[in-house]
Amino acid sequence: MREMKSGWRVAVRYGFPLLMVALLVAALWMSPRGAQPQLHLHTRLLMGTLVNLTIGSVPRSQADQAAQQAFAEMVRIEEVMSSHRSDSEVSRINQVSRETWQPVSGELGLLLRQGLQVTTLSQGAFAMGLEPLTRLWGFSGNPPATQPPPSADLARWLQAYPSSGAIELRYLGEGAAALQESDQSTLQVRLKTQSVGLDLGAIAKGYAVDRAVAILQQAGIKDAVVDAGGNLRIIGSKEGKPWRIGVQSPRQQDQVVAVSQLSGNMAMVTSGDYERFFLYEGKRYHHIIDPGTGLPARSGLSSVTVQAPDATTADALSTALFVLGAEKGLSLLSHFPGSAALLITEEGKPIRSAGFVGEWLSVPQ
Ligand code: FAD
Ligand code: MG
Repeated sequence: MREMKSGWRVAVRYGFPLLMVALLVAALWMSPRGAQPQLHLHTRLLMGTLVNLTIGSVPRSQADQAAQQAFAEMVRIEEVMSSHRSDSEVSRINQVSRETWQPVSGELGLLLRQGLQVTTLSQGAFAMGLEPLTRLWGFSGNPPATQPPPSADLARWLQAYPSSGAIELRYLGEGAAALQESDQSTLQVRLKTQSVGLDLGAIAKGYAVDRAVAILQQAGIKDAVVDAGGNLRIIGSKEGKPWRIGVQSPRQQDQVVAVSQLSGNMAMVTSGDYERFFLYEGKRYHHIIDPGTGLPARSGLSSVTVQAPDATTADALSTALFVLGAEKGLSLLSHFPGSAALLITEEGKPIRSAGFVGEWLSVPQ
């Protein structure tokens, strides 16, 4: 359990939750003294968050090798998709003047296409073009912001942000259906105004988790959990039993409010107002922004956990649902087969959609 405590110190420093893995870490430490460990835990700081890989049912050497390959893939994705690195493909696109069609790699183009589907279905609540606005708010700044930006700056941003078509994709080849990752020369992206810049913070961690799982599977791993700061996917089981995944209380960060027992192949992703935030004049300002107002979303929710077949979808949906709120958010799920959600209101009350796998624990909020 000591190890878990030091993990929490890191979590506090970086301002994001680690609780989704806490139960797994506890399980590691609860192995009988001297027994061969059944689970191998690997941790790295990537994409501004702690990434934990828990691998079971194989010898340590195989787990180590597979974990290194999975981390290498996540590093590669960060190099393409980070808006925090000036040399990434995303930043290169952001640096070019607006209204210009620019080539985009097949991999990034496919992810943008997937995200734009969520943008359309969420009526713009999920938006991958908010980089100028998220920079203004500075939640990921160094040091992170401690007060809201000047209202004149926000008003200027809002005025110039297009109500539709902020990010456009076009195909010069055989069309969308034939699009492959190798189609680099045939795919182009265009950002509409200076108020638009790519920020894939709400979808690329999920994508990186999916790619890490694919790499682990190629390396012969059947039982694993990949967790990138609350963006999590499981495969297989924990020594024949379901993986136990905890959902953190939005207000008491050392408390688990729900537990999901998952096996097979499933993603579970949480977005919350407690991950990156500051309190200013008694009010909470957090990093999930409503593109309609330019302000932190106030939809009555403090946390949204989405289960879906893949982490890319779950990541995008968890953010979209947070912005949309309970009623519109739950109806968005119907467009995504196999998806389900647990919402926690600002008052700490749970709202579950049909199909959510998990048990709500009766704990004081
Ligand atoms: P989510 O709800 O999944 O996403 C929220 C994030 O998405 C916000 O922080 C913002 O960036 C963006 N966003 C806000 N509102 C919306 C909206 N309505 N629709 C869509 N997107 C929205 N952080 C660092 O501090 N340093 C780094 O170097 C760094 N590198 C990163 C590299 C990559 C490739 C990625 C994917 C993330 C990186 N991050 C980094 C973290 C990033 O800045 C976000 O804070 C983080 O992804 C938030 O994820 P989440 O799961 O907590 O919340
Ligand atoms: Mg997200």
